[in-house]
Amino acid sequence: MTVRRFDLRVMARAVGVELDEAFEKLRGLYAYVDERNAGNTRDLDLPCHRGCSHCCKESVFLTPLEFFFAWDWLQTNATDALLGSIIAKGLALYQEHKGLIDALDGEHTPEHDVIAARLKFVCPVLGDDGACEAYPGRELYARLFGSSFNEDGGVYGCHLVGAHLGGKSVTLLRARPVAKMLEALPLTFKRQVYPYYIQWMYGGSGPT
Ligand code: SF4
Repeated sequence: MTVRRFDLRVMARAVGVELDEAFEKLRGLYAYVDERNAGNTRDLDLPCHRGCSHCCKESVFLTPLEFFFAWDWLQTNATDALLGSIIAKGLALYQEHKGLIDALDGEHTPEHDVIAARLKFVCPVLGDDGACEAYPGRELYARLFGSSFNEDGGVYGCHLVGAHLGGKSVTLLRARPVAKMLEALPLTFKRQVYPYYIQWMYGGSGPT
């Protein structure tokens, strides 16, 4: 079966955004984060490794720009079978968690954090082997998770990384200022989860 691949550039142009220019800026931010993280974590022997995917089993939030970037990578590189499987998983997850996902739309409020903490699922982009199917195009927080500090000065990461780094003095990026750099780019006016965007694109109510 042929899976529909959208012209993301036309979709972005409809809201006044030149996607390739925006992608170039996002690529620059990702390169900065990846480079800094590589230097900061080189000697830390972090427990993050291919196939761990601990952080892909929570609700992972991303902006429309990051989604377009990851989806562009998938549309360019994934087979119809893989893309179709990701779409099917995303649509099913949206139906399963529709109430919570819809409640997260709109302007961010403190209530959103409570809802987000209740929203847990295996990312539809996670492969059966535990590796991300869109790894080169993955979102900002996937790059920061386990390799940065949160706003409280603690490690922004799972309990495995927290336990591994406990008591050590380390230099890491601070996630919040990096998120602010992302927010300066176009199409970053909201954050939602992959199933939300997949539903929007393929669930019948989105682009035509
Ligand atoms: S897109 Fe990839 S890195 Fe991001 S949550 Fe999904 S599987 Fe994990």
